[in-house]
Amino acid sequence: MLNKYFSLYFENVPGGLNLANSSGGTLFVRGADSGRLAAARPGRADPRLLENDFFSNRLDFSRLRERFREHYFASYSGPHIHVITLTNRCDLNCSYCSASSNTSCADMSRTTADHLLDFIFSIKNDRAVLEFQGGEPLLNFGVLKYIVEKARRLSRRAGKKLHFSVVTNLQGMDAAKLEFLVRHRVAVCASFDGVRGVHDKNRVSGSGSNYDRVTRWLKVIRGRAAKGELEAPNAICTVTRDLLPFPVETVDAFVRNGLRRVQLGPLDPLGRGAGLEPYPQEEYFRFYRKALEHMGKLTLKTGRAVYEKGAFNILKSTETAERSPRRNLELLMRLAYDHNGDIYPSDEARMLAGSGDDLFRLGNVRRERLPDVLESQLARALISSCFGEFSQPYCARCPYNYYCRLSPVYNYMFQGSFWGNLPSSPRCAFYKFMFGLILRLKSERRWRGIFDIWLREGVY
Ligand code: SF4
Repeated sequence: MLNKYFSLYFENVPGGLNLANSSGGTLFVRGADSGRLAAARPGRADPRLLENDFFSNRLDFSRLRERFREHYFASYSGPHIHVITLTNRCDLNCSYCSASSNTSCADMSRTTADHLLDFIFSIKNDRAVLEFQGGEPLLNFGVLKYIVEKARRLSRRAGKKLHFSVVTNLQGMDAAKLEFLVRHRVAVCASFDGVRGVHDKNRVSGSGSNYDRVTRWLKVIRGRAAKGELEAPNAICTVTRDLLPFPVETVDAFVRNGLRRVQLGPLDPLGRGAGLEPYPQEEYFRFYRKALEHMGKLTLKTGRAVYEKGAFNILKSTETAERSPRRNLELLMRLAYDHNGDIYPSDEARMLAGSGDDLFRLGNVRRERLPDVLESQLARALISSCFGEFSQPYCARCPYNYYCRLSPVYNYMFQGSFWGNLPSSPRCAFYKFMFGLILRLKSERRWRGIFDIWLREGVY
């Protein structure tokens, strides 16, 4: 009989039924509907129902115990991803800048950096990912160097494994900065909107084309990566209205610049982005489907993975039932810090504060340590929000709750409330679209071949 021990979730979607269970099993069943499924019996039903724990007589309890243990944080040891705003100054004037309404132009000081490192190293876990953000982080490169060098020294004593990355517009990159990044293996992630005309229209530079700079430096960084001196560079593309006609060209531009991991983010209503004329979400979905289809074709043609990061993360986590790094685990897994040491559950919450609303401020590294931060009512509400299956009635019945990344910060940004109104939430619709698309594609033979290549080569 259908599994009676674990919750069964479903959603009727065009062409079939998306199914999930509380052990993380997911499946698109073509042509099925919820009524017919109730009568399904092993032997006569789709064999994938058996493989994915949808029948109680096939449950592998030891495997499920392991899944539950990890899913519900048996090995939890505190947040390890730290997003650090080195400055809120920037050398570009982008039309959609999320941090644009910041009125102060301030840099992180070395004293604040010392407090920040004390905070991070007081968390007793064995690894830390330090991601430098801004503004434009290269504009406060002295403090970036200071943090990297000091963190390296501290990590030797604390036995903490470190990973560094910098998210940059590459406008202020030069040979000396790159040498430092290479020497300390600081990975580079660039902002790159794919199509030259759109990129330079959105990412306004006072001194020549930023597109030219980005592509030139990506080539140099790729060369260093090819010698094994640094990780291959990544790039993030923001899909604005101007980019909507160019899904294929955007993917081609990534590939031409040696970027096989494409990242296509919708426009967020933050900072200057909130002032831009929004476009219907269906147009983003159309763009995304076409871009993904093109990535699939390129993957088959070259035998090498060309993939979208969000799609890949969903694919990988639904394949393995691992806890996805893209899940809403703000505060539990990651924290963000403003230039003055203020602590937030995410970079979006920090940017929201930059525009004058510090609802999500959790403390300051000069005064608080993680246990103090966890004491607040806000922290407790944020942690319960990480488990939508328990805290949100709408999510409790949703087949995607095991993996979803909708956070209260996005609810607040889009709908003005901590818990939001999910049936009308564009962010919930975004995740339903993404999960639904990947589950459906997983059921198609051609895409199965493409996904096998992605899973072999893709990076989380
Ligand atoms: S936010 Fe939406 S997509 Fe995510 S789990 Fe809740 S109902 Fe599902």
